[in-house]
Amino acid sequence: MARSRIVMKFGGTSVADVERIKSVARRVKREVDAGHEVAVVVSAMSGVTNQLVAWTSEIARLHDAREYDVVVATGEQVTTGLTALALQELGISARSWLGWQIPIHTDDAHGKARIERIDTEELERRFAQGQVAVVAGFQGLGPDNRVTTLGRGGSDTSAVALAAALKADRCDIFTDVDGVYTTDPRIVAKARKLDKIAYEEMLEFASQGAKVLQIRSVEMAMKHRVRLQVLSSFEDKPGTLVVDEDEIVEQEVVTGVAYSRDEAKVTLMRVPDRPGVAASIFGPLADANINVDMIVQNTSESGQFTDLTFTVTKADLERTKKVLEDRRVALGYHALDADSNVVKVSVIGLGMRSHAGVAQRMFKALAEKGINIQVISTSEIKVSVLVAEEYTELAVRALHTAYGLDAA
Ligand code: ASP
Ligand code: MG
Repeated sequence: MARSRIVMKFGGTSVADVERIKSVARRVKREVDAGHEVAVVVSAMSGVTNQLVAWTSEIARLHDAREYDVVVATGEQVTTGLTALALQELGISARSWLGWQIPIHTDDAHGKARIERIDTEELERRFAQGQVAVVAGFQGLGPDNRVTTLGRGGSDTSAVALAAALKADRCDIFTDVDGVYTTDPRIVAKARKLDKIAYEEMLEFASQGAKVLQIRSVEMAMKHRVRLQVLSSFEDKPGTLVVDEDEIVEQEVVTGVAYSRDEAKVTLMRVPDRPGVAASIFGPLADANINVDMIVQNTSESGQFTDLTFTVTKADLERTKKVLEDRRVALGYHALDADSNVVKVSVIGLGMRSHAGVAQRMFKALAEKGINIQVISTSEIKVSVLVAEEYTELAVRALHTAYGLDAA
Protein backbone atom coordinates (compact mmCIF):
# COMPACT_ATOMS: atom_id res chain seq x y z
CA MET A 1 0.00 0.00 0.00
CA ALA A 2 1.20 3.47 -0.79
CA ARG A 3 2.39 5.60 2.06
CA SER A 4 -0.28 8.11 3.06
CA ARG A 5 -0.15 11.13 5.23
CA ILE A 6 -2.93 11.29 7.80
CA VAL A 7 -4.03 13.85 10.36
CA MET A 8 -5.89 12.18 13.26
CA LYS A 9 -7.83 14.47 15.58
CA PHE A 10 -9.14 13.29 18.95
CA GLY A 11 -11.82 15.29 20.78
CA GLY A 12 -12.23 15.83 24.50
CA THR A 13 -14.14 12.61 25.26
CA SER A 14 -11.51 10.59 23.38
CA VAL A 15 -8.75 11.86 25.67
CA ALA A 16 -10.89 12.18 28.81
CA ASP A 17 -8.58 10.13 31.01
CA VAL A 18 -5.31 8.22 30.98
CA GLU A 19 -6.90 4.95 29.84
CA ARG A 20 -8.48 6.66 26.85
CA ILE A 21 -5.23 8.40 25.97
CA LYS A 22 -3.55 4.99 25.95
CA SER A 23 -6.21 3.70 23.63
CA VAL A 24 -5.72 6.73 21.36
CA ALA A 25 -2.03 5.81 21.23
CA ARG A 26 -2.91 2.25 20.19
CA ARG A 27 -5.19 3.60 17.44
CA VAL A 28 -2.40 5.87 16.17
CA LYS A 29 0.11 3.01 16.32
CA ARG A 30 -2.00 1.04 13.84
CA GLU A 31 -1.61 3.77 11.23
CA VAL A 32 2.09 4.13 11.95
CA ASP A 33 2.57 0.35 11.67
CA ALA A 34 0.78 0.46 8.33
CA GLY A 35 3.57 2.75 7.15
CA HIS A 36 1.72 6.08 7.18
CA GLU A 37 2.98 9.48 8.25
CA VAL A 38 0.82 10.68 11.09
CA ALA A 39 0.13 14.00 12.78
CA VAL A 40 -2.15 13.77 15.81
CA VAL A 41 -4.20 16.75 17.00
CA VAL A 42 -5.74 16.61 20.47
CA SER A 43 -8.35 18.59 22.40
CA ALA A 44 -8.29 19.12 26.13
CA MET A 45 -9.76 16.38 28.35
CA SER A 46 -13.54 16.78 28.29
CA GLY A 47 -14.80 19.33 30.79
CA VAL A 48 -11.38 20.92 31.27
CA THR A 49 -11.88 23.89 28.95
CA ASN A 50 -15.25 24.61 30.57
CA GLN A 51 -13.55 24.70 33.95
CA LEU A 52 -10.82 27.02 32.69
CA VAL A 53 -13.39 29.35 31.14
CA ALA A 54 -15.35 29.36 34.42
CA TRP A 55 -12.26 30.31 36.40
CA THR A 56 -11.47 33.26 34.16
CA SER A 57 -15.00 34.61 34.47
CA GLU A 58 -14.99 34.13 38.24
CA ILE A 59 -12.02 36.46 38.46
CA ALA A 60 -13.11 38.95 35.84
CA ARG A 61 -16.46 38.92 34.09
CA LEU A 62 -15.21 41.12 31.29
CA HIS A 63 -11.79 39.58 31.07
CA ASP A 64 -8.76 40.62 29.07
CA ALA A 65 -8.96 38.27 26.08
CA ARG A 66 -5.18 37.82 25.98
CA GLU A 67 -5.12 36.38 29.47
CA TYR A 68 -8.25 34.32 28.79
CA ASP A 69 -6.32 32.65 25.96
CA VAL A 70 -3.31 32.00 28.19
CA VAL A 71 -5.56 30.17 30.62
CA VAL A 72 -7.88 28.24 28.31
CA ALA A 73 -5.08 27.04 26.03
CA THR A 74 -3.54 25.02 28.85
CA GLY A 75 -5.97 22.11 28.59
CA GLU A 76 -4.42 21.07 25.29
CA GLN A 77 -0.88 21.31 26.63
CA VAL A 78 -1.65 18.50 29.08
CA THR A 79 -3.16 16.08 26.56
CA THR A 80 -0.48 16.78 23.95
CA GLY A 81 2.31 15.76 26.32
CA LEU A 82 0.41 12.77 27.68
CA THR A 83 -0.38 11.48 24.20
CA ALA A 84 3.25 11.81 23.12
CA LEU A 85 4.27 9.87 26.23
CA ALA A 86 1.68 7.16 25.61
CA LEU A 87 3.00 6.75 22.05
CA GLN A 88 6.58 6.55 23.29
CA GLU A 89 5.52 3.81 25.71
CA LEU A 90 4.37 1.82 22.69
CA GLY A 91 7.79 2.23 21.13
CA ILE A 92 6.80 4.97 18.70
CA SER A 93 8.94 8.02 18.16
CA ALA A 94 6.64 10.93 19.01
CA ARG A 95 7.01 14.57 19.96
CA SER A 96 4.50 17.12 21.27
CA TRP A 97 4.02 20.55 19.68
CA LEU A 98 2.22 23.52 21.14
CA GLY A 99 0.69 26.09 18.81
CA TRP A 100 3.53 28.57 19.27
CA GLN A 101 6.21 25.96 18.68
CA ILE A 102 5.14 25.05 15.16
CA PRO A 103 4.06 27.91 14.88
CA ILE A 104 0.43 28.05 13.89
CA HIS A 105 0.18 31.75 13.02
CA THR A 106 -3.17 33.42 13.67
CA ASP A 107 -4.61 36.92 13.59
CA ASP A 108 -4.97 38.83 16.86
CA ALA A 109 -8.67 38.15 17.50
CA HIS A 110 -8.06 36.60 20.91
CA GLY A 111 -10.65 34.03 21.93
CA LYS A 112 -11.72 33.44 18.31
CA ALA A 113 -8.53 33.81 16.30
CA ARG A 114 -8.27 32.73 12.68
CA ILE A 115 -5.38 30.66 11.41
CA GLU A 116 -3.36 32.51 8.78
CA ARG A 117 -0.40 30.27 8.11
CA ILE A 118 1.28 27.14 9.43
CA ASP A 119 5.00 26.58 9.16
CA THR A 120 5.45 22.92 8.33
CA GLU A 121 9.21 22.71 7.69
CA GLU A 122 10.14 21.19 11.01
CA LEU A 123 7.22 18.75 10.93
CA GLU A 124 8.27 17.65 7.43
CA ARG A 125 11.79 17.03 8.68
CA ARG A 126 10.48 14.93 11.56
CA PHE A 127 8.13 12.96 9.28
CA ALA A 128 11.16 12.07 7.19
CA GLN A 129 12.72 10.64 10.35
CA GLY A 130 9.59 8.60 11.06
CA GLN A 131 8.44 10.71 13.97
CA VAL A 132 4.79 11.27 14.89
CA ALA A 133 3.83 14.87 15.66
CA VAL A 134 1.33 15.38 18.46
CA VAL A 135 -0.06 18.88 18.01
CA ALA A 136 -2.12 20.85 20.50
CA GLY A 137 -5.47 21.76 18.99
CA PHE A 138 -7.22 25.08 19.64
CA GLN A 139 -3.99 27.10 20.03
CA GLY A 140 -2.12 29.53 17.85
CA LEU A 141 0.40 32.32 17.98
CA GLY A 142 -0.78 35.87 17.41
CA PRO A 143 1.07 38.64 15.55
CA ASP A 144 2.24 40.12 18.86
CA ASN A 145 3.80 36.79 19.88
CA ARG A 146 1.07 35.94 22.33
CA VAL A 147 -0.92 32.72 22.66
CA THR A 148 -4.29 32.80 20.89
CA THR A 149 -7.18 30.33 20.85
CA LEU A 150 -9.52 29.56 17.97
CA GLY A 151 -12.94 29.61 19.65
CA ARG A 152 -14.78 26.73 21.30
CA GLY A 153 -14.48 23.51 19.36
CA GLY A 154 -11.46 24.99 17.58
CA SER A 155 -9.39 21.81 17.59
CA ASP A 156 -11.38 20.63 14.58
CA THR A 157 -10.13 23.68 12.73
CA SER A 158 -6.57 23.10 13.93
CA ALA A 159 -6.73 19.58 12.48
CA VAL A 160 -8.16 20.63 9.12
CA ALA A 161 -5.73 23.54 8.78
CA LEU A 162 -2.84 21.23 9.54
CA ALA A 163 -4.12 18.67 7.04
CA ALA A 164 -4.31 21.40 4.39
CA ALA A 165 -0.83 22.74 5.18
CA LEU A 166 0.68 19.24 5.19
CA LYS A 167 -1.27 18.25 2.07
CA ALA A 168 -2.51 15.23 3.99
CA ASP A 169 -4.44 12.52 2.19
CA ARG A 170 -7.06 12.43 4.92
CA CYS A 171 -8.14 14.19 8.09
CA ASP A 172 -9.89 11.86 10.52
CA ILE A 173 -11.91 13.49 13.29
CA PHE A 174 -12.38 10.96 16.11
CA THR A 175 -15.24 11.82 18.39
CA ASP A 176 -17.93 10.34 20.64
CA VAL A 177 -20.41 9.83 17.80
CA ASP A 178 -19.75 7.46 14.92
CA GLY A 179 -20.59 9.84 12.12
CA VAL A 180 -22.98 12.44 10.80
CA TYR A 181 -26.64 11.45 10.99
CA THR A 182 -29.71 12.49 9.01
CA THR A 183 -30.78 14.12 12.26
CA ASP A 184 -30.09 13.95 15.99
CA PRO A 185 -30.45 10.23 16.90
CA ARG A 186 -31.41 11.21 20.45
CA ILE A 187 -34.61 12.68 19.01
CA VAL A 188 -35.28 10.37 16.09
CA ALA A 189 -34.53 6.70 16.71
CA LYS A 190 -34.81 6.07 12.97
CA ALA A 191 -32.06 8.56 12.08
CA ARG A 192 -29.51 7.07 9.68
CA LYS A 193 -25.78 7.50 9.58
CA LEU A 194 -24.66 9.07 6.30
CA ASP A 195 -21.77 7.41 4.44
CA LYS A 196 -20.97 10.67 2.71
CA ILE A 197 -22.05 14.26 2.94
CA ALA A 198 -21.05 17.19 0.71
CA TYR A 199 -19.04 20.08 2.18
CA GLU A 200 -21.85 22.56 1.45
CA GLU A 201 -24.37 20.40 3.27
CA MET A 202 -22.05 19.83 6.21
CA LEU A 203 -21.54 23.57 6.43
CA GLU A 204 -25.30 24.10 6.64
CA PHE A 205 -25.62 21.29 9.20
CA ALA A 206 -22.94 22.89 11.37
CA SER A 207 -24.41 26.38 10.94
CA GLN A 208 -27.97 25.22 11.63
CA GLY A 209 -27.16 23.69 14.98
CA ALA A 210 -25.56 20.25 14.49
CA LYS A 211 -22.58 20.25 16.81
CA VAL A 212 -20.34 17.56 15.29
CA LEU A 213 -17.79 19.90 13.72
CA GLN A 214 -16.78 23.51 14.28
CA ILE A 215 -18.18 25.61 11.42
CA ARG A 216 -14.80 27.06 10.54
CA SER A 217 -13.29 23.61 10.18
CA VAL A 218 -15.85 22.76 7.50
CA GLU A 219 -15.29 26.07 5.72
CA MET A 220 -11.60 25.39 5.69
CA ALA A 221 -12.01 21.79 4.52
CA MET A 222 -14.23 23.00 1.69
CA LYS A 223 -11.82 25.72 0.65
CA HIS A 224 -8.78 23.45 0.60
CA ARG A 225 -10.64 20.29 -0.45
CA VAL A 226 -9.47 18.37 2.60
CA ARG A 227 -11.06 14.91 2.76
CA LEU A 228 -12.63 14.81 6.18
CA GLN A 229 -13.93 11.78 8.01
CA VAL A 230 -15.99 11.94 11.21
CA LEU A 231 -15.74 8.66 13.12
CA SER A 232 -15.98 7.10 16.55
CA SER A 233 -12.91 6.76 18.70
CA PHE A 234 -14.61 3.96 20.63
CA GLU A 235 -15.74 1.69 17.83
CA ASP A 236 -13.71 0.41 14.95
CA LYS A 237 -15.85 1.17 11.93
CA PRO A 238 -15.98 3.68 9.09
CA GLY A 239 -17.62 7.01 9.83
CA THR A 240 -19.02 9.71 7.54
CA LEU A 241 -16.88 11.20 4.79
CA VAL A 242 -17.26 14.91 4.12
CA VAL A 243 -16.40 15.33 0.47
CA ASP A 244 -16.94 17.15 -2.77
CA GLU A 245 -20.49 16.85 -4.10
CA ASP A 246 -19.23 15.09 -7.24
CA GLU A 247 -18.40 12.12 -5.06
CA ILE A 248 -21.96 11.67 -3.93
CA VAL A 249 -23.74 9.30 -6.23
CA GLU A 250 -27.23 9.06 -4.82
CA GLN A 251 -28.35 12.55 -4.04
CA GLU A 252 -31.54 12.72 -1.96
CA VAL A 253 -33.63 15.87 -2.19
CA VAL A 254 -33.17 16.44 1.53
CA THR A 255 -30.12 15.01 3.26
CA GLY A 256 -31.04 15.81 6.82
CA VAL A 257 -32.91 17.81 9.43
CA ALA A 258 -31.08 20.09 11.86
CA TYR A 259 -32.32 22.16 14.75
CA SER A 260 -30.96 24.90 16.93
CA ARG A 261 -32.33 25.88 20.30
CA ASP A 262 -29.84 28.70 20.43
CA GLU A 263 -32.27 31.22 18.91
CA ALA A 264 -34.23 34.17 20.17
CA LYS A 265 -36.87 36.18 18.33
CA VAL A 266 -37.16 39.94 18.52
CA THR A 267 -40.11 41.89 17.17
CA LEU A 268 -40.17 45.66 16.86
CA MET A 269 -43.76 46.80 16.78
CA ARG A 270 -44.91 49.73 14.72
CA VAL A 271 -41.66 50.75 13.13
CA PRO A 272 -41.99 53.77 10.80
CA ASP A 273 -42.20 52.39 7.25
CA ARG A 274 -39.73 54.55 5.36
CA PRO A 275 -36.45 54.13 3.48
CA GLY A 276 -33.42 53.66 5.69
CA VAL A 277 -35.20 52.15 8.65
CA ALA A 278 -33.76 48.66 8.27
CA ALA A 279 -30.30 50.14 7.95
CA SER A 280 -30.74 52.21 11.08
CA ILE A 281 -31.84 49.13 13.05
CA PHE A 282 -29.36 46.55 11.79
CA GLY A 283 -26.41 48.93 11.51
CA PRO A 284 -26.00 49.41 15.28
CA LEU A 285 -26.50 45.66 15.83
CA ALA A 286 -23.72 44.88 13.36
CA ASP A 287 -21.50 47.46 15.05
CA ALA A 288 -22.12 45.65 18.33
CA ASN A 289 -21.00 42.41 16.65
CA ILE A 290 -24.48 40.91 16.91
CA ASN A 291 -25.30 38.46 14.17
CA VAL A 292 -28.85 38.68 12.86
CA ASP A 293 -30.14 35.55 11.19
CA MET A 294 -33.75 35.39 9.96
CA ILE A 295 -35.56 38.64 9.13
CA VAL A 296 -39.17 39.37 8.18
CA GLN A 297 -40.76 42.69 7.60
CA ASN A 298 -44.51 42.75 7.34
CA THR A 299 -46.28 44.92 4.83
CA SER A 300 -47.77 47.88 6.59
CA GLU A 301 -51.49 48.35 6.70
CA SER A 302 -51.52 52.08 6.84
CA GLY A 303 -48.41 52.61 4.77
CA GLN A 304 -46.92 54.35 7.77
CA PHE A 305 -45.93 51.63 10.24
CA THR A 306 -44.78 48.04 10.02
CA ASP A 307 -43.65 45.24 12.33
CA LEU A 308 -40.14 43.89 11.97
CA THR A 309 -39.16 40.46 13.28
CA PHE A 310 -35.70 38.92 13.35
CA THR A 311 -33.64 36.35 15.22
CA VAL A 312 -30.36 36.51 17.11
CA THR A 313 -28.61 33.93 19.28
CA LYS A 314 -29.87 33.55 22.84
CA ALA A 315 -26.48 34.74 24.07
CA ASP A 316 -26.88 38.03 22.18
CA LEU A 317 -30.47 38.71 23.21
CA GLU A 318 -29.80 40.96 26.19
CA ARG A 319 -27.30 43.07 24.26
CA THR A 320 -29.69 43.27 21.33
CA LYS A 321 -32.45 44.60 23.58
CA LYS A 322 -30.07 47.12 25.10
CA VAL A 323 -28.83 48.42 21.75
CA LEU A 324 -32.38 48.86 20.44
CA GLU A 325 -33.92 50.23 23.63
CA ASP A 326 -31.17 52.85 23.82
CA ARG A 327 -32.24 53.99 20.33
CA ARG A 328 -35.97 53.70 20.75
CA VAL A 329 -36.77 57.36 20.27
CA ALA A 330 -34.51 57.75 17.25
CA LEU A 331 -35.87 54.59 15.63
CA GLY A 332 -39.43 55.55 16.45
CA TYR A 333 -40.83 52.08 17.11
CA HIS A 334 -43.69 51.46 19.49
CA ALA A 335 -42.60 48.39 21.48
CA LEU A 336 -40.00 45.66 21.56
CA ASP A 337 -41.06 42.09 22.14
CA ALA A 338 -38.47 39.37 22.83
CA ASP A 339 -39.13 35.64 22.85
CA SER A 340 -36.44 33.05 23.54
CA ASN A 341 -38.88 30.16 23.66
CA VAL A 342 -38.19 29.30 20.02
CA VAL A 343 -36.27 26.73 17.99
CA LYS A 344 -35.06 26.91 14.42
CA VAL A 345 -35.65 23.72 12.45
CA SER A 346 -34.01 23.34 9.05
CA VAL A 347 -34.11 20.85 6.23
CA ILE A 348 -30.91 20.71 4.23
CA GLY A 349 -29.95 19.15 0.92
CA LEU A 350 -28.12 19.88 -2.30
CA GLY A 351 -30.95 18.13 -4.11
CA MET A 352 -33.16 21.16 -3.46
CA ARG A 353 -31.39 23.01 -6.22
CA SER A 354 -33.07 20.79 -8.76
CA HIS A 355 -36.38 19.94 -7.09
CA ALA A 356 -39.47 22.06 -6.61
CA GLY A 357 -41.94 21.76 -3.76
CA VAL A 358 -39.41 21.09 -1.02
CA ALA A 359 -40.55 23.96 1.17
CA GLN A 360 -44.19 23.15 0.59
CA ARG A 361 -43.68 19.62 1.87
CA MET A 362 -42.16 21.09 5.02
CA PHE A 363 -45.04 23.50 5.63
CA LYS A 364 -47.58 20.73 5.06
CA ALA A 365 -45.86 18.30 7.44
CA LEU A 366 -45.76 20.93 10.18
CA ALA A 367 -49.36 21.99 9.57
CA GLU A 368 -50.51 18.38 9.91
CA LYS A 369 -49.00 18.33 13.39
CA GLY A 370 -50.61 21.66 14.26
CA ILE A 371 -47.28 23.43 14.54
CA ASN A 372 -47.41 27.15 13.85
CA ILE A 373 -44.56 28.61 11.80
CA GLN A 374 -43.39 31.99 13.08
CA VAL A 375 -40.61 32.90 10.66
CA ILE A 376 -39.33 31.29 7.45
CA SER A 377 -36.03 31.69 5.68
CA THR A 378 -34.55 29.89 2.72
CA SER A 379 -31.30 29.54 0.88
CA GLU A 380 -30.35 27.51 -2.15
CA ILE A 381 -29.91 24.30 -0.16
CA LYS A 382 -31.91 24.87 3.00
CA VAL A 383 -35.32 25.85 4.34
CA SER A 384 -35.54 26.97 7.95
CA VAL A 385 -38.54 27.70 10.11
CA LEU A 386 -38.84 29.16 13.56
CA VAL A 387 -41.38 27.42 15.81
CA ALA A 388 -42.16 27.33 19.53
CA GLU A 389 -39.47 25.43 21.42
CA GLU A 390 -41.86 22.84 22.88
CA TYR A 391 -42.41 21.50 19.35
CA THR A 392 -38.74 20.69 18.72
CA GLU A 393 -39.04 16.91 18.89
CA LEU A 394 -42.40 16.76 17.15
CA ALA A 395 -41.23 18.98 14.28
CA VAL A 396 -37.93 17.19 13.75
CA ARG A 397 -39.61 13.76 13.73
CA ALA A 398 -42.39 14.89 11.40
CA LEU A 399 -39.91 16.32 8.89
CA HIS A 400 -37.60 13.33 9.05
CA THR A 401 -40.56 11.14 8.09
CA ALA A 402 -41.95 13.57 5.51
CA TYR A 403 -38.73 13.57 3.48
CA GLY A 404 -38.42 9.80 3.58
CA LEU A 405 -35.34 9.81 5.77
CA ASP A 406 -36.49 7.25 8.38
CA ALA A 407 -34.45 4.07 8.45
CA ALA A 408 -36.38 1.02 7.31
N1 ASP B 1 -10.81 22.37 24.17
C1 ASP B 1 -11.47 23.33 23.34
C2 ASP B 1 -12.94 23.37 23.67
O1 ASP B 1 -13.41 22.64 24.50
C3 ASP B 1 -11.24 23.11 21.89
C4 ASP B 1 -11.79 21.81 21.37
O2 ASP B 1 -12.07 20.88 22.11
O3 ASP B 1 -11.94 21.68 20.15
O4 ASP B 1 -13.64 24.16 23.09
MG1 MG C 1 -15.51 19.10 19.50
